[in-house]
Amino acid sequence: MRRDRTPTRTRSRVLCAWRGRRKKKAVVVSFFVAWVWVALACPVGVEGATLGEDARAGGVGRARDEVGGDGVCDEGGSVLGATGAGAGVLLAGVSRERDENLKMMRTFFANANMTNSYLDELAGISDSDFHLERTFLSPGSLRALASVRRWMEEAGLRVWLDSVGNLHGRLERAGGAGAGAEGGKTGEGEKLLLLGSHIDTVVDGGAYDGTLGIVAAITAVKNLKLKLDSDEGLALKRPVEVIAFSDEEGLRFKSTFLGSRAVSGTFLKHGYLDARDSKGYTLSSVLETVGLSNSKEDIAKIAMKREELYGYVEVHIEQGPVLQSLNQPVGVVSAISGQTRLYVQVDGFSGHAGTVPMDQRRDTIAASAEMIHRIEKDCKAFPLSRENMLVCTVGEFNVFPGASNVIAGYSNFSIDIRCKDDTMREEVVDLVRVSLKDIAARRSVDCNIETKHNAESCQSSPVFTESLRKGIIGAHSFAKRYEEARQVSSSVDPAEAVGGDGKGKEGESSILWEMDEASVPVIASGAGHDALAMSEVTPIGMLFVRCRDGISHSPLEFVEPRDVTIASLSLFHFLVAEALVDRTTSHSNAA
Ligand SMILES: [Zn+2]
Repeated sequence: MRRDRTPTRTRSRVLCAWRGRRKKKAVVVSFFVAWVWVALACPVGVEGATLGEDARAGGVGRARDEVGGDGVCDEGGSVLGATGAGAGVLLAGVSRERDENLKMMRTFFANANMTNSYLDELAGISDSDFHLERTFLSPGSLRALASVRRWMEEAGLRVWLDSVGNLHGRLERAGGAGAGAEGGKTGEGEKLLLLGSHIDTVVDGGAYDGTLGIVAAITAVKNLKLKLDSDEGLALKRPVEVIAFSDEEGLRFKSTFLGSRAVSGTFLKHGYLDARDSKGYTLSSVLETVGLSNSKEDIAKIAMKREELYGYVEVHIEQGPVLQSLNQPVGVVSAISGQTRLYVQVDGFSGHAGTVPMDQRRDTIAASAEMIHRIEKDCKAFPLSRENMLVCTVGEFNVFPGASNVIAGYSNFSIDIRCKDDTMREEVVDLVRVSLKDIAARRSVDCNIETKHNAESCQSSPVFTESLRKGIIGAHSFAKRYEEARQVSSSVDPAEAVGGDGKGKEGESSILWEMDEASVPVIASGAGHDALAMSEVTPIGMLFVRCRDGISHSPLEFVEPRDVTIASLSLFHFLVAEALVDRTTSHSNAA
């Protein structure tokens, strides 16, 4: 990997180049060169300072952007008023600092980029030789968790497996009461910041759903620890924990969120221990078979209390096409949509296709077709902003008797209405009910509408939404500075140029992307996630990552490697704001 390449040679060449020029050129030229350096350095420092201010607004104090960012601009500023000889000395300092910055940025980048290698490894761990499949505590899931454990330990986290197979890795505060504690115990007064997603997949699933949120969190925390260790003035404000949830898809026991519900404390209430898989094994017996405790007391201990938690933040592939259409790699989730599921039965009268005149029919296919078309029209009559994510779907339609020469006498179909705004969803449901009854009356059929499921939307924490937005801006700013620094480095020696393509090869595209920092995408999630289960016990936030054509739950699921790297860097910048504190200025804000 390029991150292993020491920049020493580059640094000496930069310094030599500078010294050579100083000997040959007149003082006035030195001033010009100084000005160029300052012009290059200042935007770096300004961005660093801007992020520092943003971070402080979020309660971080000294949590600057990348190490030394504002220092470069401070020195650059003083160079402007110096004499030629003084400028040369200061410039050497600037260039040294710039090299140190580049070295640090390379490591941040390499760690974030490592997320791709982790995803590749997990994509190869399956219960099937033919497709990707990992169900709750299956052999494939356990092998995948072993890899995750290794990466958590390499990142310096304290790791343990809980009774339902969730793998936890925690970065403890130095000297914090939680350090050295067993399992999930926290120190007195400490509030945990949780990150995570799920290790299980659907049958023939994709390589990013769930796993991306786990490994991006590990690499982001690895960078957080690197930043922490590189500046003794910084301290961890709160413990940060990554969780690989054992089950979200609910494939094996037909119950979703098994892992996150154990942590949010609702697992036992749902009676999951007695659930049976397709082979007849109870969940309780499966826990025992793999060597975990199925005692209710032990499972109850996994549950985290509201007062122990600061929040839960999840990175997840979008599973939809919105970010792709906006041409943005990442976006912030403002809410998980509420959902209403209706079941509509239409009763008419069967008859002979050749003998019943058109004006005497009670055809339920024709009536249902008009109803379904009307549902789409009603839905579109509401503001269909991406922010609200109002969507109406008829995904199931059945007809009886279903013969080409028989007028249908009975039909039924499903309606799935989702929206971030619960009031709007209820208005749509009311309008659809009225429309369907009107059509039924006009067509002389009976229409019965039954509500099968109703769930309110889950709003993200405004604090996390804003911090994640700033995290994306921080990653964008990092990408710009990294690219600039690399170009300065490669202009001295092209052989030192590093690729930012997500693979670390030379000569490929960078992670830089076009983004208007004033309009970071903020979208709603139409799908449920572990964050939904966690919202029962703590504030939540989510970061979505663009996936190709919105395809998910499929082997065609794909996320560009550079988008994966950007997601990890965005989460890292979020963590800098939410988990670091300057201990020289703040002692009271421990949790
Ligand atoms: Zn998922």
